[in-house]
Amino acid sequence: MTNFSGFKCLECTRLFGVTEAQYVCPVCSGNLDVLYDYENIGNQISRASLAVDPDLTIWRYRALLPIQDASPLPPLTVGWTPIYDCPRLADTYGVKQLLVKDEGRNPTASFKDRPGALAVVKAWEAGARVVTTASSGNAGCALAAMCASVGMRSVVFVPSSAPPPKIAQLQIYGAQVVLVEGSYDEAFDLCLAAGSHYGWYQRSTGYNPFMAEGKKTAALELAEQMNWNVPDRVFVGVGDGNIIGGLWKGFNDLSRLHLIDHLPKMMGVQAEGAAAVVDAVAGDGIVRQRPAHTIADSINVARPRDATRAIRAIQESGGSGIKVSDDEIIRSIAKVARSTGVFVEPAAAAAFAGFVKHSENENFDPQERVLLMLTGHGLKDTQAARRAVSEPLRIGPDIEPGISALADFAQ
Ligand SMILES: *Cc1c(COP(=O)(O)O)cnc(C)c1O
Ligand SMILES: [Zn+2]
Repeated sequence: MTNFSGFKCLECTRLFGVTEAQYVCPVCSGNLDVLYDYENIGNQISRASLAVDPDLTIWRYRALLPIQDASPLPPLTVGWTPIYDCPRLADTYGVKQLLVKDEGRNPTASFKDRPGALAVVKAWEAGARVVTTASSGNAGCALAAMCASVGMRSVVFVPSSAPPPKIAQLQIYGAQVVLVEGSYDEAFDLCLAAGSHYGWYQRSTGYNPFMAEGKKTAALELAEQMNWNVPDRVFVGVGDGNIIGGLWKGFNDLSRLHLIDHLPKMMGVQAEGAAAVVDAVAGDGIVRQRPAHTIADSINVARPRDATRAIRAIQESGGSGIKVSDDEIIRSIAKVARSTGVFVEPAAAAAFAGFVKHSENENFDPQERVLLMLTGHGLKDTQAARRAVSEPLRIGPDIEPGISALADFAQ
């Protein structure tokens, strides 16, 4: 049994049965939305049933995921990441409550473990032995680890400029790593072509309709963690736009099931040098491809592959798009770490930078409750982090001169 009932094209609105499409729309090549039988779901889960479910992973929301009952699940523990309350930051920036969700606590240290776990289940259902994806790094790491955990093979296309820790992570999990001497956007096109040529199961973001479903688990989870009283706004970094679109789907699922009574405004944050979605929202809604350049490699996207889903999430929710500079992103890495104790990579710091910018520009309603999605761990890009700090004190091991050199630390 599954509650998954078909697809709807986000562009031409045509409907397809579960076996009539696999990736994009067979008619217009638009990205697909996954449809469910919500009446059935409502009979299967409730606040009460979830409250007694001991499974603290994304699979507690199985009824809301497009998988068969018999499908084996990868064993790594994905989801149920902590949410921290940050009252001092809430005071500083004039909101009632500020929460951060630490997605770096997932098995490969990013949000991408959510869709990665679902990808291997869908690959298994499709009878595939090899799964491929294009990635700026995190999606590939998550896929590589999930594949390793179930004995599948992965082929990951990343730009050769990816941060070295991400490349090390990919290799150590045993992925076939393809360093593409080009951009993420170029790696994406190569991955699609190679995947269809060799018959590999394709995970690439946007193209695979199920990845937004994996991403929505963060919305389901945070609602439950917050006792079904969801925040007024959610800030998240946007590259392809699949996370923000998936989160919006999750909140809408909960609303349809009467599990929450209001929907958060979705705040999409992009770097100034890679802002195709934010520019489209601010302009005529049309996405224009431009060369992308930002230190936040996870959102360094020239041609967002899930722009329609992202733009709809922002517009339907009454949220907005925000651009932040690389300098603001770098400073935010230190600010987040020093004010919350959570170390994040640049694309996650962008969510905080967007929050700060929103407080400076428009001012929050002082009654608002805000959540920042901290999508990836800081150890994934230590070079970027070191740009946020000065050189540490360096001294010899001799005791007397050492003690004098430390005089400044004594206050
Ligand atoms: C992938 C990613 C994002 C952006 O997600 P999109 O779906 O591409 O918009 C943000 N932060 C981190 C750490 C990521 O890995
Ligand atoms: Zn279509």
